Amino acid sequence: MELHKLTITQAHQGLVKREFSAVELTKAFLDRIEKLDKKFFAYLTITKNLAISQAKTTDSLILREKEIPILAGIPLAVKDNILVEDVRCTAASKILESYIAPYDATCIKKLKAQGAVILGKTNMDEFAMGSSCEHSAFGPTKNPHDLTRVPGGSSGGSAAAVAGNLCCYALGSDTCGSIRQPGSFCGVVGLKPTYGAVSRYGLIAMASSLDQIGPITKTVKDAKIVFDVISGKDPFDSTSVESKSKVKSQKSKVDDLRIGVPKEYFAKGIDPEVEKIVKSAIKKYEALGANIEEVSLPYSTEHALATYYIIMPSEVSANLARYDGIKYGYSVTSNRQQATSLLDVYLKSRAEGFGEEVRRRIMLGTYALSAGYYEAYYLKAQKIRTLIRKDFERVFKKVDVLMTPTSPTPAFKLGEKIVDPLLMYLSDIYMGAVNLVGLPAVSIPCGKVTNLPVGLQIIGKPFEEDRILDIAGIFEKSNCL
Ligand code: GLN
Repeated sequence: MELHKLTITQAHQGLVKREFSAVELTKAFLDRIEKLDKKFFAYLTITKNLAISQAKTTDSLILREKEIPILAGIPLAVKDNILVEDVRCTAASKILESYIAPYDATCIKKLKAQGAVILGKTNMDEFAMGSSCEHSAFGPTKNPHDLTRVPGGSSGGSAAAVAGNLCCYALGSDTCGSIRQPGSFCGVVGLKPTYGAVSRYGLIAMASSLDQIGPITKTVKDAKIVFDVISGKDPFDSTSVESKSKVKSQKSKVDDLRIGVPKEYFAKGIDPEVEKIVKSAIKKYEALGANIEEVSLPYSTEHALATYYIIMPSEVSANLARYDGIKYGYSVTSNRQQATSLLDVYLKSRAEGFGEEVRRRIMLGTYALSAGYYEAYYLKAQKIRTLIRKDFERVFKKVDVLMTPTSPTPAFKLGEKIVDPLLMYLSDIYMGAVNLVGLPAVSIPCGKVTNLPVGLQIIGKPFEEDRILDIAGIFEKSNCL
């Protein structure tokens, strides 16, 4: 049996039936990581001892109990901006290169309580800023479908680890598509939950009003399993809420489903092949009885990205102020370098510790928030954010879900966009509005352009994760038949 290819459900069944042990399952992944990760570079840290000891715990549980939690003994990979106690957590930045997490993020605590097995921490764009994983301070991850291409970003390591069968599932974070776009580029499922559905406690903050942790999995069913475990109210995150079962699942009922297709998402800039594949996926729902309706999201498409690139850097400039060479992280003083004053320590530590893209965003955000520019940029962006929310509220009166491409193109070549930040930013065009409004969205594989996967994005109303996953599951099933 090829243990590394199993989904969560299959692996769980195998463990319960004692077809293999959790240690065997874990070792199958660790062996693969050792063999293949030189090629992909999906992992920054491998937690072999932790994984084996967690697997042993599950094995002894299986001997004692009839039932075990669904995630017990199942190996996962964790994006390197989510804290795992006593494990290095770098956010792919030099400034945190030797930082050891002092506690578990809430989602990790919940997974550990289930008996999950943590294989390691995955590569990403530095502090989750990027769409290709090329902004990692430690080198880029490669797309398992084509090693000359990017896996997407910023959770590229997590998506590549799932697609390359270097873990059974993974966690990512999504501030403007960082779960969905790598999911789409690597041909796996990526769920960005509603803002507040999953606690952000223990997630290294990028832009706190936009960040969400979510699962990257091989199947839609697996995404639901992981989401159900990691979601819920957390006293350590005051923006978190109890979201479970807000909407009872509509299981496989396509007949009265109303699907909105925003016309602006199929306008200029989209790869014609991607357009064809996504449209034919939507047609499949129509053939199954759904009503397809063209809708318009004028503000979302026209202004979401510009709004995001004001609000996000503003929050970044505030959140990243803590890395100053004194509190924690890299410091020029620890290198015994000369620093003439406290300010000099700040300036040199930050200049050496942060990469180019991070510094660019801190500068942009500082500028947008500065006296004299605050009203013109930040305040205006917040007002447009409200208009974007109204766009969605209006269309969600008419339709149940929206379907769009996840990304305008399949995975691009390594090096293709890194030299042009604006070109890189444009690859997020279909994703940012969802984060600005806080909606849930899932990307599922819906076809290929030659060997490169294409993703279908399904956007739902707040806290309707169950519904979008059920709807995604319908496509997955019909595609497998
Ligand atoms: N491409 C987005 C950015 O660079 C991704 C952010 C994210 O989702 N973490 O800001």
